[in-house]
Amino acid sequence: MGHENFKKVKFHENKERFRKLVEEGQHPRALFIGCSDSRVMPTMITGSKVGDLFIVRNIGNFVAPFRPDADYHATASAIEYAVSVLGISDIIVCGHSHCGAIAALYKEIEETPENIHTIKWLKLGHAAKKVALLTHKNRSHEEILRYTEKVSVIHQLDNLLTYPAVKRRVDEEKLFLHGWHYNIENGEIEYYDDEDYEFKLLSQK
Ligand SMILES: [Zn+2]
Repeated sequence: MGHENFKKVKFHENKERFRKLVEEGQHPRALFIGCSDSRVMPTMITGSKVGDLFIVRNIGNFVAPFRPDADYHATASAIEYAVSVLGISDIIVCGHSHCGAIAALYKEIEETPENIHTIKWLKLGHAAKKVALLTHKNRSHEEILRYTEKVSVIHQLDNLLTYPAVKRRVDEEKLFLHGWHYNIENGEIEYYDDEDYEFKLLSQK
């Protein structure tokens, strides 16, 4: 069984680290906002150890804009906690190739009581779809999807800046935002270079 193996091998190997993280508490360096997709494994693709990453995963790695109302906002509260309480210094929004959420933006999906939250959540990708269609209309569907995945990451970074806790720290240069796109076919990660306005290979940074 997987858990038995974890206990005997992995937990055992990292026993000291786990003990230290209990005694001293967690001090992760980065908040990683990734897609719930089973093929995107945040710790695996970044080579992170236990205690390194504070992770939020949701459909499409979307960040809803700051909206302090009576609703329950899971991603928003994780952002606040990571920034204000844990004091992380970096936030990574990581999109990925072949993202089902981005592909769903291009499908006609009828709203029913069984998908109502999903349909609403996907609206957070609509702005990226508009940009992709405006600039890549004549490209292949796959190219449009890859481009939408990347533009969406940039939009989610903009949405992060609507959070007062994020904006203040970014302005003070205590917090740094990163947009990534992970290619599940070849394992490459590209990062968004906001000076050159393009995605570049992280491995060549
Ligand atoms: Zn996805």
